[in-house]
Amino acid sequence: MPFLELDVLNNPNNAILGIDLGTTNSVAAIWQDGRPTVLRPPGQNDGRIPSVLHFPEDGGIVVGRNARALATESPESSLFSVKRLMGRGLEDVRTDLDGIPFEGSETDSGLLQLEIRGKKYSPQELSARILHHVWQVAGAALGELAPLRAVITVPAYFDDAQRQATRDAARLAGLEVARIVNEPTAASLAYGLDQKNDGTVAVYDLGGGTFDVSILSIEEGVFRVLSTSGDTHLGGDDIDQTLVELALSELAGKADEATLADPAFRQGIRLSAEKCKIELSSRPESELHVVAPEHGIAWRRTIRRAELEERIAPLIQRTLDACRRAMADAKLQPSDIDEVVLVGGSTRVPAVRSQVQEFFGREPHTALDPDEVVALGAAVQGHVLSGGTRDMLLLDVTPLSLGIETMGGAVSKVIDRNSPIPTQVTEGYTTYADNQTGIDFNIVQGERELARDCRSLGTMKLSGIPPLPAGMARVAVRFSLDADGVLNVTAKEESTGTEASIDLAPMHGLTDPEVEQMLLDSYDHAQEDFDASRLANLRIEIGTMSRAVSSHLASAIGLDRDTVLDIEEAVAAAEKSATTSDVAAVQAARDELERATLPLAAALMDSVAKRALEGKTLDQV
Ligand code: AMP
Repeated sequence: MPFLELDVLNNPNNAILGIDLGTTNSVAAIWQDGRPTVLRPPGQNDGRIPSVLHFPEDGGIVVGRNARALATESPESSLFSVKRLMGRGLEDVRTDLDGIPFEGSETDSGLLQLEIRGKKYSPQELSARILHHVWQVAGAALGELAPLRAVITVPAYFDDAQRQATRDAARLAGLEVARIVNEPTAASLAYGLDQKNDGTVAVYDLGGGTFDVSILSIEEGVFRVLSTSGDTHLGGDDIDQTLVELALSELAGKADEATLADPAFRQGIRLSAEKCKIELSSRPESELHVVAPEHGIAWRRTIRRAELEERIAPLIQRTLDACRRAMADAKLQPSDIDEVVLVGGSTRVPAVRSQVQEFFGREPHTALDPDEVVALGAAVQGHVLSGGTRDMLLLDVTPLSLGIETMGGAVSKVIDRNSPIPTQVTEGYTTYADNQTGIDFNIVQGERELARDCRSLGTMKLSGIPPLPAGMARVAVRFSLDADGVLNVTAKEESTGTEASIDLAPMHGLTDPEVEQMLLDSYDHAQEDFDASRLANLRIEIGTMSRAVSSHLASAIGLDRDTVLDIEEAVAAAEKSATTSDVAAVQAARDELERATLPLAAALMDSVAKRALEGKTLDQV
């Protein structure tokens, strides 16, 4: 990986980056001039960085915007939603893997891996690529190297293994994690709710593919997650799907089976459905159209907002059911909620807003961009941790109980669900056989009574217990959960004062030596990897620019012959260069192409402006 060189290890102002590492998109923000600011890629006003990876045939990894563009053309070499795989085992993610074009496997220690173009990657390594890209975008936005310390947000329901996997990803990306913060807590911070002395907050987060609701309490500016609920497969994509189904049912008589099953055709409908949905958030009516000349189809249909609302009513109802469950878990009534915060792009749907408002009986906070609010809150937390004002301690709770498997497969709970963290609990255990000198511990997480129904976080062995009759040895097991929700377990044999050290071997995580090894490997291959990825990106940029030239050059008015020749030459040179692997030469050819096409871009802008002035809308030009 193109990881960091030593000269960037100094961060002069000790700033801390805030990163919302999302399933679909990630966002970086930082505290600047007295407030949190989203770091947008230069020249763009959208701060979202797609959490998408693309693996070109000839090597390298493309991340972010470019990857998303390529994913539309070649989904079979692209990866979405790595976040769903973080800190999970193969069995946990079977259904998620169905939607992924790569083969999943598990190492002996239970680490999930995906085989991509002959190489195996853990979700942590893949997520590290995304984090590294986010860091680079942040640096480009800042005009200087971005801070290497970061606050990273995770869903409130993330368990220990998932949080640990996020930390490992950050380490692999060369970042130091200043704090892992829950997404709903971050969203509340962005709205300054920590300034309140006390109260109860409901954070309703409806994104593209996931829905989460969290109930938080604030006590003297300190947050506690009281409960969480949600649906990991419910979001804006399902809203789009209602329109896709409408289109497909109306097209049924007009298109043949093969056309209706064609993935590219379906993707076209999906994009049109999303566009129509987004327009309906600000207009009472929009048009859903499916135009596929290659299939002889040109279908249009006006959709009224009320019609969409009727179709998505059951989806909104499902989110409200989850809100009801979260309220019951927190033992609260909707009238107990003082503040409602909306997060996620789909909370822009007016019916979502109004029904959430009705459910909680409060007008929700909507002033901040729902796609950016979590990153903004992470930046606030980063500011506080780097010594800024707004002194506060963030308290969260553990979402699931933590315990130990005892004889017969039962679970002995050590830390109860919803215990505020950080916390430390020590429990005493003993041996069950005479002269037993070792104990195997299985650390589990979950609410079920039997260990096999809970999730195993890892196993560890305590050896060196002196031979004693059964029941005489006294083993103190200490569970300590830190402020990030990361668990550390230690055990000590006390009856004789003998201490034994034990290591927790994470089931779905990386061990320290594994992380070290991956870092070493990444340093070894850093230049190679960097070149391959750089080359892949340059080829994409050249491809995009030359496609733009071929579709606009003929119609551009006011370009003299020399300029046209200059552009044509630059296109030919860049395309030729793109077939080589000389990074410096390809970069030079790409820069030359950009320079040569500047007059074309200017001419196009002119004609767009002129036509707009003639009363035409931009999309008609
Ligand atoms: P997120 O994962 O939070 O970025 O949310 C993305 C989802 O929000 C996608 O399903 C988008 O289609 C949806 N979305 C974005 N803007 C709007 C809008 N104005 N109205 C309705 N849905 C939107």
